[in-house]
Amino acid sequence: MTKTIAGLHHVTAIAGDPQRNLDFYTGVLGLRFVKKTINFDDPGTYHFYFGDDAGTPGTILTFFPWQHARRGTMGAGEVTQTAFSIPRGSIGYWEKRLAAKNVEVERKEERMGVTVLLFRDPDGMQVELVEHASAPTRRAPRFADVPVEHAILGFFGVTMLERDLPRTEATLGLLGFRKIAEEGNRFRFAASGDGDAGDSVALGRYVDIVLDPAARQGRPGAGTVHHIAFRAEDYEDQKAWLATIGEHLAVSPIMERDYFRSIYFREPGGVLFELATDLPGFTVDEPLETLGEALRVPQWLDAQLVPLTERLVPVTLHKATTAHQTR
Ligand code: ZN
Repeated sequence: MTKTIAGLHHVTAIAGDPQRNLDFYTGVLGLRFVKKTINFDDPGTYHFYFGDDAGTPGTILTFFPWQHARRGTMGAGEVTQTAFSIPRGSIGYWEKRLAAKNVEVERKEERMGVTVLLFRDPDGMQVELVEHASAPTRRAPRFADVPVEHAILGFFGVTMLERDLPRTEATLGLLGFRKIAEEGNRFRFAASGDGDAGDSVALGRYVDIVLDPAARQGRPGAGTVHHIAFRAEDYEDQKAWLATIGEHLAVSPIMERDYFRSIYFREPGGVLFELATDLPGFTVDEPLETLGEALRVPQWLDAQLVPLTERLVPVTLHKATTAHQTR
């Protein structure tokens, strides 16, 4: 028996210049650089992970930064916006902060009852900040100059652009997501876990589908989302999901990703889905205090660490001086 999916585990996107990507997500958005590792499928390039202070599932945005990546184009069969939750009362802070850092911001009032800030990262990826009743900021990133009371909490959800609704809706339904709202051509689905009780918002609970039958297919490249991962509670749960999903869709075998185990499948509209385990997490190979500071490679690549390091573009992590202590 499969367990209920709580929401998103991580979102993975493609970026261009690694240093520019690192500077934006730590220096502008104030996320913690949780892991500096390599792309297991392309070991001469990085895989960056950003998140809350501990790299909690549901807060993790990851990138494959390829120095000379061509820009992608957004279109159908893609995640077109990735949304983070911010605490209620933080919209003004973020609007000012982004403007001060020369990020062009669009404020959308009252989308499905909440205020949304939309902007692009340096590679053109569309990111949103959503203000709504929120969970306490328990794990605000250290080394960030964003005040704890305004710190990004983790994912709100993602928006996928689709030309057809029923088949993608069926796949979300298989994963336990149910439609909770509709506004124009936007359909909101929520993970069926009980995270919406009261003020306690589970992270990454929402998947929106924007329906546009005339939309052109997207083209992957810098600034586009590569895949989204949902959470599997543990290894047994993932095995159960492998069997369940396999009855309906082509699904990969279980892959060892060092910080989690993964299975991959494509929803009928074209978005690549992953189901990743919460275990073992990002402290499996380095302590919480120094997460992201040294390059980490999987054991099977240990012997090649030196030649690999020489192939990577060097990057510098700038830790904010006004670090605050987390509880
Ligand atoms: Zn992934």
